[in-house]
Amino acid sequence: MNKTKRRYNFNPGPAALPFDILEEAQQQFVDYNGMGISLLEMSHRSRIVEELNQETQHLLLTLLGIPYGYEALFMGGGASTQFALLPMNFLKPHQTANYVLTGSFAEKAYKEAAYWGRTHVVASSKDQKWRSIPAINEEDLSEESAYLHITMNNTIEGSRYTSIPEVTSTPLVADMTSEILSRKLDLHKFSMIYAGAQKNLGPAGVTVAIIRESWLEQASNEIPEIMRYSTFAKNKSLFNTPPVHAVYMMNLMLKWAQKQGGVEQLEQHNLVKAGLIYEVIDASGGFYQGIIKAEDRSPMNITWRMANEELERQFISESEFHGFEGLAGHRSVGGLRASAYNAVPYEACKALADFMNDFAQRHG
Ligand SMILES: *Cc1c(COP(=O)(O)O)cnc(C)c1O
Repeated sequence: MNKTKRRYNFNPGPAALPFDILEEAQQQFVDYNGMGISLLEMSHRSRIVEELNQETQHLLLTLLGIPYGYEALFMGGGASTQFALLPMNFLKPHQTANYVLTGSFAEKAYKEAAYWGRTHVVASSKDQKWRSIPAINEEDLSEESAYLHITMNNTIEGSRYTSIPEVTSTPLVADMTSEILSRKLDLHKFSMIYAGAQKNLGPAGVTVAIIRESWLEQASNEIPEIMRYSTFAKNKSLFNTPPVHAVYMMNLMLKWAQKQGGVEQLEQHNLVKAGLIYEVIDASGGFYQGIIKAEDRSPMNITWRMANEELERQFISESEFHGFEGLAGHRSVGGLRASAYNAVPYEACKALADFMNDFAQRHG
């Protein structure tokens, strides 16, 4: 396939991957490194797979700026499984888990924890239809707090924390699925972060859970072995058969991110890309209406509405005709959403901004 025939992919997840790594994976697919078999056919107990796993873990922690003191675990089940594993491992019977509700994924994480133990909502923007990120007051935490869980970037709504909340009295945990590796953050402030791979790290199939070693020591040993973070840590994420191909794709993706100049460069790039689209929204005189309060807007997921649903449907259908993919908002909220993760090129965002201006002129 020719690169120029690729569609402008704004899918929310699974999402765009760099063309270069798709090609490289294609070349390696049948015959891995000239070994005469495919990686998909190899034992996960082989040296090759073991080294791939370790290299990928190291690359990830290094790119994230936390090469020491943290374990990177490669797991299955998606970020949604982490919603349940987090309380199973870290919420003890006498404790309460604290949650900030900023969107539907945050709410799902909270609901899963409530099946397991005591929970408490510290802050919520549900009453404001998730239009902003609420402030967190540490005095609003419950007694005997096990941890505080936040969702750094709200994929469906299009909001994000501008900075990591200052919380010192309890371990801080974040779902970073839709923004991991997209901006420079001091991740040492977290006891744990996790992310499904299919937005910024590669294809679906692997989920990363990154846990501070000293906190990991406190994880429960009273749950089935396969649910324990400590099992994955002890066995270097090779306790059972891992999703080898997904890890391989993440490995390529991480090397690609490194080649782009790492997180600092990606962040600059992402701000420029999202800026192109937010500028069109802001200059459209209300033709495009941003949903999220300006200071909390996400560069990863850009959401907006238009005068009525018919116009929105027309926008989507014309955009598809012009080569754009994935601009419909999540089925639960409607509207429009452009997901501009790390792998979405500048050219795609520029093309979308131009298309939006053109559409507004024809229909405004
Ligand atoms: C996509 C997403 C999820 C769900 O991920 P799965 O891997 O499908 O379980 C959870 N949280 C956030 C923030 C997401 O963007």
